[in-house]
Amino acid sequence: SQSRRIVSPAATDEEIQFEASLRPKRLDDFTGQAKVKELLSVTIEAARRRGEAMDHVLLIGPPGLGKTTLANIVSQELDVPFDLTSGPMLQKKLDLTGILSNIRNRQVFFIDEIHRLLPDIEEVLYSALEDFRVDIVIGQGPGARTHSLPIAHFTGVGATTRQGLLSAPLRGRFGLILYLKHYDVPEMQKIVHRTASLLGTPIDTDAAEEVARRSRGTPRIANRLLRRVRDYAQVRAEGHVDLKVARMALDLLEVDRFGLDEIDKKIMLTVLEKYGGGPVGLSTIAASTDEEPDTIEEVYEPYLMQLGFLDRTPRGRMATERAFEYFNVPRRPMG
Ligand code: ATP
Repeated sequence: SQSRRIVSPAATDEEIQFEASLRPKRLDDFTGQAKVKELLSVTIEAARRRGEAMDHVLLIGPPGLGKTTLANIVSQELDVPFDLTSGPMLQKKLDLTGILSNIRNRQVFFIDEIHRLLPDIEEVLYSALEDFRVDIVIGQGPGARTHSLPIAHFTGVGATTRQGLLSAPLRGRFGLILYLKHYDVPEMQKIVHRTASLLGTPIDTDAAEEVARRSRGTPRIANRLLRRVRDYAQVRAEGHVDLKVARMALDLLEVDRFGLDEIDKKIMLTVLEKYGGGPVGLSTIAASTDEEPDTIEEVYEPYLMQLGFLDRTPRGRMATERAFEYFNVPRRPMG
């Protein structure tokens, strides 16, 4: 499933340490996402000059594009502490009120997967973000009383892969809403070079481009592929990654020219062959590929759309001319 795919955008447990060691620490080190960076840098600078907590920020985009990294960078640029949690980690109101009562002035509080907060916990967050207050209940039964306590002025950074699942009131609490997009090949190439140099792995320009092309516009995948390519180079080519070595290693991992894997291909072939190019509904695609509709929409489709293979239309998903060509499927005669 998802976590076992070599081109999955989700991090494995083993990768978490590795990723932390590769995280750019400053905005200047962070490649790509020019618009996001410019907006963040202005907001950071303004907060710094005023000496106040920065406005709350919501980061929206597919997994593995750098949301956690950016939240970390904000805290380092502001020179304030960083704490993190995630929607699914907060099970009781008290989990969140506990964290918020101990929060420090101007610090960054990062909430990953914020669309997965339980409704009553989301409500705790509303007043914290808006008024820097938390309600706590003192006593029990009929004598119980609710007190509204002030907390430190902090900067909330929320991250979500699913903006459609975010409630309007929650969204409304964020002063800055930023969208992360998949990286283009030159940006990915820069990221591959950077990681290679941190790993001490010599890599040729065309080899870096090859890894970049096959990484689905996702830094996390590029870093993962590069590690496998490095192993291959060490064992089979004295450590140096040239184009030939990169291609052999990537072919061995069965990552194709565009970083597509079996599930992408199954999705595309469903639309192209079974449904003559579409339109096809999401649930139909899900049923024929044995994947969750959510996963298809959130993980697979954005990249297939970016490659220009798939269009979302009001009537359903449609394959493009380019997809017919790449997958070598003849168009069925009309009528
Ligand atoms: P998730 O939501 O799945 O946790 P994410 O969007 O928070 O993903 P990160 O954990 O921030 O992604 O990034 C994944 C890896 O990719 C990290 O090792 C990070 O260093 C690297 N990375 C992400 N964006 C960039 C970038 N622009 N430049 C260099 N490295 C990057």
